[in-house]
Amino acid sequence: MNKTVLVTGASRGIGLAIAKKYADQGFNVAFTYVAENRKINETVEKVKGDNDVKVIAYQLNVTSVEQCEEVLAKIYEEFGTIDVLVNNAGITKDMLSLKMKNEDFFSVVNTNLGGTFNISQLVVKKMMRAKTGSIINISSVIGSTGNAGQVNYAASKAGIIAMTKSYAKEYGKKNVRFNAIAPGFIETDMTNELPDSLKENILANVALNRFGQPEEVANVAYFLGSDESSFVNGQTIVVDGMMI
Ligand code: NAP
Repeated sequence: MNKTVLVTGASRGIGLAIAKKYADQGFNVAFTYVAENRKINETVEKVKGDNDVKVIAYQLNVTSVEQCEEVLAKIYEEFGTIDVLVNNAGITKDMLSLKMKNEDFFSVVNTNLGGTFNISQLVVKKMMRAKTGSIINISSVIGSTGNAGQVNYAASKAGIIAMTKSYAKEYGKKNVRFNAIAPGFIETDMTNELPDSLKENILANVALNRFGQPEEVANVAYFLGSDESSFVNGQTIVVDGMMI
């Protein structure tokens, strides 16, 4: 029987590449998006491709515990189990801290860190009972380095690394693994909006002398969800081409 992955925020960017990777490897895929106007049927078809797998998209704001409960109930009814969870949904609201509003701090922390907690809490209970599962949280290199203009984002991504290690310590005995991925600069909508001068500065500090592609993060996300990584737990894998 096919295994099932749930990927949050997979309507585009890194999440979409992860959902596609798992479908290509024979997983059934449940994925989420938040915006009203997404042409989501096209995205479902893109993820499915020619694979003989089930792919269903669910609209979900990960900051709402109520919505998380409702959507998770639907996913379990449709798919039976979730074998791999990828907490990928995330946002930025960049601003130097002097000018950052409370609401911009908390909306980023509540989405990136709070959303990861909201979904993990619901999924880990079932994985614990099944005595198997892998949860992958998408952090960022900024969670270790910090970044001017990203007090909110950096705090949320550092929190994800610490949260991942703590969950890993709690659930290791139940054979549920938690790992994080810390991407560097990956070409998606999130980074496309940055000014060219900033992009040039960042590029000058990447040893591989190029930006990453969503598929290069997806390959690592697949490794961490597969049995190939069966003794990897509580780790953060950096995927940044070596930022120096
Ligand atoms: P993206 O292209 O902006 O896509 C973000 C995804 O998250 C979309 O699917 C979006 O849904 C969803 N989303 C946003 N707010 C949500 C909410 N409240 N509830 C549920 N879903 C929500 O971003 P990306 O660049 O692929 O980034 C994906 C993850 O990687 C994020 O956690 C980001 O912080 C992390 N990351 C990215 C980079 C990079 O260089 N791109 C580097 C390090 C880490 P809609 O499409 O419906 O809006």
